[in-house]
Amino acid sequence: MFKINKKNVVKNFDILNKKIFESKLNFPKEIEIEYMDTELGAYIPFDEDQDHDLLMLTDDWETKDQFVGVLLHEMIHIWQWQQLKNDKCGHDEIFKQFQNKSQQLGFEVEF
Ligand SMILES: [Zn+2]
Repeated sequence: MFKINKKNVVKNFDILNKKIFESKLNFPKEIEIEYMDTELGAYIPFDEDQDHDLLMLTDDWETKDQFVGVLLHEMIHIWQWQQLKNDKCGHDEIFKQFQNKSQQLGFEVEF
């Protein structure tokens, strides 16, 4: 079991940002860490009642690698939104390119 807090998230975000995203990502304006039952993480660029981006992560992980892999997954979506202004944030060619780049650098993207 691996528990996280905002400090873990900021620290790992910074590491991945430097290694994989040329430090071009901005940390989301809002972060929520709480138990999620259907998925492990989600990134929501904006919503009907939300004008800023939001990163949601579950609080309870099997391993640290699983957490880092999901954070990385959501960070690719953050790239799609912040850099490309693509609010669909899907698992498209760009997503696959970052997935491959991550693998070459020794990081596994979790789904
Ligand atoms: Zn995704």
